[in-house]
Amino acid sequence: MIDGIADRQDITLEELRILLETADEKSIGYLKKLASDKAHETYGNQVFIRGLIEFTNYCKNDCLYCGIRHSNKNADRYRLTDEQIMSCCESGYELGFRTFVLQGGEDPYYTDDRVCAIVAAIKEKYPDCAVTLSIGEKSKESYQRFFDAGADRYLLRHETANEEHYRRLHPKEMSLANRKRCLWDLKEIGYQVGCGFMVGSPGQTIETLYEDLKFIKDLKPHMVGIGPFISQKDTPFADEPSGTMERTLRLLSIIRLIHPKVLLPATTALGTIHPKGRELGIQSGANVVMPNLSPVNVRDKYKLYDNKICTGDEAAECRYCMENRMKSIGYQVVVSRGDFAG
Ligand code: SAH
Repeated sequence: MIDGIADRQDITLEELRILLETADEKSIGYLKKLASDKAHETYGNQVFIRGLIEFTNYCKNDCLYCGIRHSNKNADRYRLTDEQIMSCCESGYELGFRTFVLQGGEDPYYTDDRVCAIVAAIKEKYPDCAVTLSIGEKSKESYQRFFDAGADRYLLRHETANEEHYRRLHPKEMSLANRKRCLWDLKEIGYQVGCGFMVGSPGQTIETLYEDLKFIKDLKPHMVGIGPFISQKDTPFADEPSGTMERTLRLLSIIRLIHPKVLLPATTALGTIHPKGRELGIQSGANVVMPNLSPVNVRDKYKLYDNKICTGDEAAECRYCMENRMKSIGYQVVVSRGDFAG
């Protein structure tokens, strides 16, 4: 069955159910091995690194799962200045990062003009680097402006491809239709685009996951970001159980098999629920890691979920820690933009 999924680069609902529910360790071992072999076919033993700069935790949205949601009065809000962002890039560049990911809440302070100015400044100083934006839902015109200013990639997890599930996770002002519209617009403009979802978010079922996989087949993104949902104490989902590492690993493998060349990160959330989560993610078919480049004094304020790792570490520590972690499993962190290999 697993070989069939790899050959067809597609999966049925029944196959998904079996792979997510089985306790047969041998077949799951085979699934993960085949997925990491597939990643090797395209990317060898190389792991791409992205320097993550969490530049604002202000957000106008109120996503029920997220610790920086607008109505969380306990969030200690911050914004990085342009100088701080440039200084993150400077230390990141010296550490061998050739992709900078600017991520934040949907913060109206960062107007299109401001975003364009930051992107242009980074691209001017580091023309050999890729800039990825992850700043939420915007109009097609805004996305076009960011692209024209030099942005190369855009991460916007679709969160779930099922309408009813989407409504359970988001306030009524937000819609799945708009989220999908954004992703199609981004693709049309010419970005390398990443969608994705949390594993184990409240209300997620095998059926909704199947819809996620179908959406990924449809969109054909260059990147897919998945990580476990982890509850955050100041959100409406504070008491909801978190997603599991095992289900996340199996889904990473499945996504690799049905989308062999996709850029697939082993996320910080995966590293948060298990000390070896990111290593196991790579061994299940992931090929990207995203160490944090944000200044240490704001690290613990970008709290999307509880117990986030690495909040006290300097960028250099994260960088070398990651290199050692990858070495320990036979992988090499590379200094390159790490573009999609399609
Ligand atoms: N505002 C941007 C960035 C959001 S944060 C945007 O809308 O895209 C990046 C991702 O973190 C989200 O897409 C979500 O999937 C994930 N995230 C948020 N809260 C989380 C939680 N409690 N547990 C795990 N992941 C979470």
